[in-house]
Amino acid sequence: MVMVLLMACSCGPSGMIALSSGDPDRPDVILVSIDSLRPDHLGAYGHTEATSPFLDRLAGSGQRFTEARSHSPWTLPSHVTMLSGRGPLEHEVIEDTRRIPADLPLVQEALARSGYATGGFVSTIYVSDTYGFARGFDRFEDFDITKATNLQHAVRAEQVIDDALAWAKSIKDKPIFLFVHLYDVHYPYLPPEPWNFQFDKLGTRKSTRYRNYQYYLDNPVKAARWKHLNAQYDESIAYADANLSRLEAAWARAGRKVSWVVTADHGEELGEHGGWGHGHTLHPEVMRVPLIVSGDGVPGAAVRAERVGGIDVAATVAALAGVPFPCSGLDVRAALPPARDLVFETSRFDSARLGLLTAEARLELDLATGRATTFDLGDLGERAGAPLVSPEQLARVWATVGERWSATGPVVSSGWIHAAGALQGHAFSGPGPFAVYPPDATVDGLAARLTPAPPFAEVSDQTRQQLEALGYEQ
Ligand SMILES: [Zn+2]
Repeated sequence: MVMVLLMACSCGPSGMIALSSGDPDRPDVILVSIDSLRPDHLGAYGHTEATSPFLDRLAGSGQRFTEARSHSPWTLPSHVTMLSGRGPLEHEVIEDTRRIPADLPLVQEALARSGYATGGFVSTIYVSDTYGFARGFDRFEDFDITKATNLQHAVRAEQVIDDALAWAKSIKDKPIFLFVHLYDVHYPYLPPEPWNFQFDKLGTRKSTRYRNYQYYLDNPVKAARWKHLNAQYDESIAYADANLSRLEAAWARAGRKVSWVVTADHGEELGEHGGWGHGHTLHPEVMRVPLIVSGDGVPGAAVRAERVGGIDVAATVAALAGVPFPCSGLDVRAALPPARDLVFETSRFDSARLGLLTAEARLELDLATGRATTFDLGDLGERAGAPLVSPEQLARVWATVGERWSATGPVVSSGWIHAAGALQGHAFSGPGPFAVYPPDATVDGLAARLTPAPPFAEVSDQTRQQLEALGYEQ
């Protein structure tokens, strides 16, 4: 069944015309983002189901990173980070009311300027031209997806890859930078036939229905349904993997040199903390992502345990193409610090969380409740969070992220944050840290009754020097 589908796929609208032979001196670069893909559901990362024969092969001949993280658990901020090499608190595209700033450099612009043909093919509105993602691409296809059609999976991997291949085959005398974003693994986990019964029985209309994050918090999933939802998630990965392998085949037929960077914008909660989906929390199941760098220009096969992030994708893409692109990330092929600090944030779905991953622990501030928590790095399930008791640890969180925020000291009475977008109307009560988020938000109403106080954590000259050394301050 699998072979029949693959053969059928190779005869899409792009036909059997081959790619040109390419530029022998400059490799093509293919960047793949598979939305909502957890690394532990890939064979290369130890999964027992055969979800990913192509990606496993790619990982086996290249570098696979076991400690890669996203910086945001939802699509828009994470992809802006991926293509700009700037963290969410730097680029500030953290609400779905925001667009990529016109002066934020994107890696595809740098490649286009240096002679690359640039093509972007995406399948969600949150990576579409609505948010400014088309800038720098010679050809950009977002299939006119709207918010209304976004979750209907109207654009499947097969169509995205068909269009990407048709465009690549039209390029004659230039190296290619191809960015492909696939949405098939994103909930509601509806793999097409025949993939939808690869790992368990065919679902019924009722059993395949995905509800929403809160529904699952309120109605814990029973074992049989948990298994079925997992199978559908895995089947979606297998479908995406099979379609991506068509790119590999086309490039191999043409004998073009190509470098691959494959990652995800975030992982997925599959019930570990009750919910199904992403965007709400910063737990490992949603912040860990795969990162596979393979092909031309990548030193031999290796499993790398240094901590990397989505912030490193643009720098790596640029370096593979031999193009300068100053940003906050690193070329992951180089020697890396083993456990550098990474910053997380989310303000999606009325959440308001800041996270800091250090060499010792994961710290989190829930700005909606004022609660600060620390998690042991060895506690992968993050069920045993303990209140953050060390003022030094808390100060470190604020020192790292607070430069972009306005921490105004303890709240002396109930107050409201009046901020752009989703945070409007967030209630704060009781003592605790108080922040204006996003940074350009304004505060009024009850907040005016706040006792003026110095910032919760002053950034001392010494701290600033440390932050500069770590690369947080530019
Ligand atoms: Zn996403």
